Amino acid sequence: MSFESLGLAPSLLKSLVKQNYSKPYPIQLAAIPAILDNRDVLGIAKTGSGKTASYVLPILTKLQGRKFTKNRQVNVLVLVPTRELAEQVKEVFRIFSDDLVTPIKTMAVYGGVSINPQMKALFGINVLIATPGRLLDLIDSKALELSNVETLVLDEADKMLNLGFEDEMKRIFSLLAKKRQNLLFSATLSDELEGINKVLLNDPKVIQIASFFEEPELINEVGYFVSDEKRVLYFAI
Ligand code: AMP
Repeated sequence: MSFESLGLAPSLLKSLVKQNYSKPYPIQLAAIPAILDNRDVLGIAKTGSGKTASYVLPILTKLQGRKFTKNRQVNVLVLVPTRELAEQVKEVFRIFSDDLVTPIKTMAVYGGVSINPQMKALFGINVLIATPGRLLDLIDSKALELSNVETLVLDEADKMLNLGFEDEMKRIFSLLAKKRQNLLFSATLSDELEGINKVLLNDPKVIQIASFFEEPELINEVGYFVSDEKRVLYFAI
């Protein structure tokens, strides 16, 4: 199966060639048609599976041919646990937005940096990638409204829960329009996450990608104190 047969916007096919994406990865084969079909998706897949492009490509396709009025209401919200992931996801949106016929504006917001430039820049944005805490700060400052979000993505949802963002996530869900598409990606499934899935997802397409390398469940780290004379240095050649 090729990218050509998945129903993506023709301008994206050019970018896929530029990025050397010659064949869709399994998660992309399963997720792209479901997302284009407006279905909710539950993707159990780790980083490295190609999960980011599996939602970025159909989301950009669905935004093509639309007319947008410039305001503080975003069309797509991607919630992520960390600033690093926010930047990575933004970069994937950016590389695939170069040749689009309908230009799509993407922005990433996260804490640990000044909020004022983010407040100013949040005008006429289509796709917002955000960490939960900073997103709520921006909403409370009236820099942004979520009532027009058509697609919500939770990326690394398990990590967001592990970092203690559950209350923030629930508050964010309550600010969204009831009718929307929900895409949830997680490396693992836990009882807490099952709770979120039940509230959020409506008859989702479930995609589970086995990881190539099984990771150990637990890594034990042990330290020993040694005197200087007993210390030996090993060099790997
Ligand atoms: P991700 O799991 O989304 O973090 O993606 C892992 C890596 O795979 C990234 O470096 C992507 O650019 C790359 N990638 C994703 N899909 C494809 C594809 N179909 N062909 C080649 N590289 C890809």
